[in-house]
Amino acid sequence: MEHVVPARIHQLRTIDTGEIRLVQLALPEQIDIGGKSYVIRDTMRPGTAFLAKPWGARTDKYRRRMYTRSNSAFNEPRLLETFINHTHQEQADTSVWWQSEMATEWFEKEKTVDVRIQLNEDECVAKVYENTMACKPANLRLEEDGKWEEMRMVCVAFGTGITPFLSYVRYMTAHDFGRNGRREGVHLTLVASVRHAGQLMFHEKLASLEKQFPRHFRYQPVLTRAWPDAWGYLKGRIVRVEQAKSGNDHIDITPLQTIVPDLAQSHLRVCGNVAACRQVTLGLEQGGIIPLTVRAESW
Ligand SMILES: Cc1cc2nc3c(=O)[nH]c(=O)nc-3n(C[C@H](O)[C@H](O)[C@H](O)COP(=O)(O)OP(=O)(O)OC[C@H]3O[C@@H](n4cnc5c(N)ncnc54)[C@H](O)[C@@H]3O)c2cc1C
Repeated sequence: MEHVVPARIHQLRTIDTGEIRLVQLALPEQIDIGGKSYVIRDTMRPGTAFLAKPWGARTDKYRRRMYTRSNSAFNEPRLLETFINHTHQEQADTSVWWQSEMATEWFEKEKTVDVRIQLNEDECVAKVYENTMACKPANLRLEEDGKWEEMRMVCVAFGTGITPFLSYVRYMTAHDFGRNGRREGVHLTLVASVRHAGQLMFHEKLASLEKQFPRHFRYQPVLTRAWPDAWGYLKGRIVRVEQAKSGNDHIDITPLQTIVPDLAQSHLRVCGNVAACRQVTLGLEQGGIIPLTVRAESW
């Protein structure tokens, strides 16, 4: 049987009107189920997703949807943060609802959205459900502690695909980027591609984090459609699709390589829509570039 806990909409902030919103769901400290009290424990690993039951604007009923968490359980237990975009698909249901006036009303009235939990009857503990417990090529669960600290990572995010990497960065910052006396610690380059400046998520925070920890964190935002005159970062797409006469598309990843020349010496992580993620991996294949490892998650 699936169990849920009602989570209050703690924050609903518009990033780009009708397109992207930041959502925070606050879970209570405990819950009573079947006459028994359970302590809610939040041990979600950075890079994993929780399951919530928001309203569907098209179907007019509650739906089950996964959302990758953008903060970390270590820093902010029981506060599930994510960024949700309007998919603009014909079938779009909950993604439209999150951008709606009705969602704003729910937030203002402190209404709740159910979040899946898993009960441990013996310990009287309810754990926040996370979508995966193992690191696989098709998910972005962060490697175990003791492993990520030794890695050089390049994380490529398309739109709200930045969510798992924001969680990584917050977790890693809280762990001093894994440096100690003998160990240099992790290095993470975050390439965040969005259409225009209004879609950038935590831009100032990330830029100042880079200044604060230049040996561990590099931030490369990319604007694909419009940019301010003074934009000092990359403009245009990081991967370009060129139609070949043969009918097979050629993917040019030169723009990505100009900002991250050391892809072959890095662990590559990619997150975003299916087409964009596929283009990155195909472009690497066509260019004969083989990163140390590649893991990608697309929705
Ligand atoms: C692991 C994971 C993490 C995610 N993280 C995020 C995140 O951080 N931010 C974010 O914005 N989104 C995220 N998503 C996507 C999110 O769960 C929703 O799918 C997305 O917001 C679109 O929701 P929707 O209800 O508008 O449309 P959909 O989920 O596309 O569903 C619309 C309707 O179409 C139906 N449908 C969809 N595909 C098919 C199909 N192939 N065949 C038949 N019917 C179909 C569905 O059942 C539904 O009724 C994540 C998804 C996964 C799996």
